[in-house]
Amino acid sequence: MKNYYFILFFFITALYAQPPLEKVSVKLQWADQFQFAGYYVAKDKGFYKDAGLDVSIQKFDPKVLAIDEVMAGRSTYGIGRSSLLIDRMEGKDVVALAAIFQSSPFILLSKKSLDIKTPRDLVGKRVMMTRDFQDSISVRAMLNSQGIALNQLKFLDHSYNPMDIANGKTDVMACYISNEPYVLREKGIETNAINPEAYGFDFYSDILFTTESEVHRHPKRVRAFVDATLKGWEYAFAHIPETAQLIKEHYDGQHKSKESLIYEGEVLKELAYRGNEPLGAMTLEKFRRISDIYKVMGLPQDEKRFEGFIYEDTTDQSIPLSVDERSFLHINTIRYTSTDTWPPFNFYSDHDDFNLQGIAVDFWKLIVKRTGMHTAYVSSPSWNWMLDAIKTKSADVALGTSLSSDKEPYALFSKPYASFPNVIVTNKTIDFIPGLEALNGKRVAIGQGYGISAIIAAHYPKITIVDVENTREGLKLLSSGRVDAVIDILPVIAYLINADHYLDLKISGTTQFNLDVRMMIRNDYPELKSIIDKAIDGISIAERQKIFNRYIAISYENRVDYSWVYRIAALATIIILIFLYRQYEMGKYNKRLLKIATTDPLTGLTNRIRLDEKLVECHQSYLRTQRTYAVMIIDLDNFKRVNDTYGHLVGDKTLVTFAQIIRNNVREMDLVGRWGGEEFMIICPETNINGADRLATKIQELINSYDFPHIHTLTCSFGLSECHKGDRVEDVVGRADDALYRAKEEGRNRIYQG
Ligand code: GH3
Ligand code: MG
Ligand code: MG
Repeated sequence: MKNYYFILFFFITALYAQPPLEKVSVKLQWADQFQFAGYYVAKDKGFYKDAGLDVSIQKFDPKVLAIDEVMAGRSTYGIGRSSLLIDRMEGKDVVALAAIFQSSPFILLSKKSLDIKTPRDLVGKRVMMTRDFQDSISVRAMLNSQGIALNQLKFLDHSYNPMDIANGKTDVMACYISNEPYVLREKGIETNAINPEAYGFDFYSDILFTTESEVHRHPKRVRAFVDATLKGWEYAFAHIPETAQLIKEHYDGQHKSKESLIYEGEVLKELAYRGNEPLGAMTLEKFRRISDIYKVMGLPQDEKRFEGFIYEDTTDQSIPLSVDERSFLHINTIRYTSTDTWPPFNFYSDHDDFNLQGIAVDFWKLIVKRTGMHTAYVSSPSWNWMLDAIKTKSADVALGTSLSSDKEPYALFSKPYASFPNVIVTNKTIDFIPGLEALNGKRVAIGQGYGISAIIAAHYPKITIVDVENTREGLKLLSSGRVDAVIDILPVIAYLINADHYLDLKISGTTQFNLDVRMMIRNDYPELKSIIDKAIDGISIAERQKIFNRYIAISYENRVDYSWVYRIAALATIIILIFLYRQYEMGKYNKRLLKIATTDPLTGLTNRIRLDEKLVECHQSYLRTQRTYAVMIIDLDNFKRVNDTYGHLVGDKTLVTFAQIIRNNVREMDLVGRWGGEEFMIICPETNINGADRLATKIQELINSYDFPHIHTLTCSFGLSECHKGDRVEDVVGRADDALYRAKEEGRNRIYQG
């Protein structure tokens, strides 16, 4: 009997004994306040403990940076800014885990009486700012875009005491919009703030990070820490007053009032959930934009270092397969087949004739890895051979294919794992082709059996389709003048034109037909289809981009900026296509590729970086040809009132609508861009002031008569100028600016010339 008790005791202790908590730490990058509420709550509410973690929250110390603490191993995790990307490029193996604020709360605050309202007012001023702040993208990009160098500001060590704004120890202080303005207002001190967001620079802030070695050595712990932290944040934002009370009781280093903590919480909540992203979300695109802008500013960005910067969860990548699916994989070796003539999807590498590689191949490898399937390779000498192999079941799956009705009797198709537009290639002498109708009566080469062939035959019977073995053969025919055009998807065309050095060919237009790339599976293997679909679902956006990046980048190595290539793969939008087409036309790949990094995310217009470039281009052309150009600056009237009355979202929508109206009503050669917050610029090459005045009048009428959602009416003021002999670019812009100022002074909704 005794023995039984003994055994029972053993069982009970085994059941209830908890493994010891793992000790980790997180380093804060500012004094205790609501900015770190998620961490306090996760600790206080036991979220960390439930995740098996004993987290010590390391208080802010003005003498050290979180990044240094984490790199040196004195903290496991840290909170940083977009400048982490610079650290990464400098060789530190930092990994971004979650972006707590989708938009940065960062502002530059000064006493109202100093009248510091724009970045230009900062020149020569004393500015309290920490080093990581100076490097943060918002600060850098805003100053840079306004033509201000860091050394034109006098940086002081940060005292972390907002009262130093009031007592004159500094002119300007780096602050959070959620914090100091309120604290100072409570004390009756009025302030001015400069917000990078108003200049179009709107980036992440408070990025939770760690080291690569932590991610590799403790993947479960990292996942657990991130999840518990986000849970803490969710709770904090859902219970702001309660959280403010918790901070007051346990983290009251700053002696902030409870009201100011609540205010802080509310402002930060808005920034954390901005754009309806899930809490902590990070996208490759946004980091890519940050990287591109650093690059524009001359801070080196290395694609290889970029890879791995964004945390990818590797703890649970196995696919949840059913019992049937598991036993299917257990019994069968999957024979996969592919042609080797469809770069960059499936092709042999130049160096190694038997090493099949490409986008399709890498997706396949990922699927194989995740599902643990056993495979055997069946090589297909031609496309038709491959179709036959699936038909006769001498192969089980074909990698890079698309759905079409003729294949459906004998094959199943996976979900698409990539999607690209079909584009039209012609000789360089042909103008832009607006659509497929333009090819009626023309001879167009398309790979035999390619899905797009049947689609075009059905929709455009007047086009003569010339069957070719593959697109490479089609391009040969085109180059020798035996067909008028070739059609295939963008990455394939871009790859081949470049690889085979067809200087006489270009992409002249796009079709409305996209190709969804899928795996084709023999039709008696529904289990295999569902296994592959599940695996495709499990592939993250970052993983997809990495694959596109790798292949399309390789084909352009040394010629093309990676960011550009990446975007072809990722977005494949028409804008990029037109851009690509222009690139081909101009015959130069390397320069001005950063155009793509120069789009304003809200309005889709060109941003200031590109406008500045265009001004210089126009000016140079003026110096050569003596044909003048005109500049127009448009500022919306009383726009603050729109925000104040209808809210920021309506304000944003109004800006988008406004941008659309002007974009749709300028000539192709004019460039419309966002100059700053609610200011726009139109650059009109080879146009004098009268031409610009006519355009302004037209825009004024359109805006005055347009019924804007919610606000109904809107007016704006115009400042125009043209380039005169002896002018510098700054003079031309300066006169437009002065004219705009006068238009405002004298009652708004006016067009003035400077
Ligand atoms: P004025 O007629 O003198 O131009 O009056 P205004 O109210 O338009 O004044 P000002 O040009 O100085 O202020 C611009 C305001 O535009 C400030 C800011 O609230 C708002 N704004 C700037 N950028 C954005 C934006 O991206 N979205 C929204 N919603 N508002 C913006
Ligand atoms: Mg303005
Ligand atoms: Mg305005």
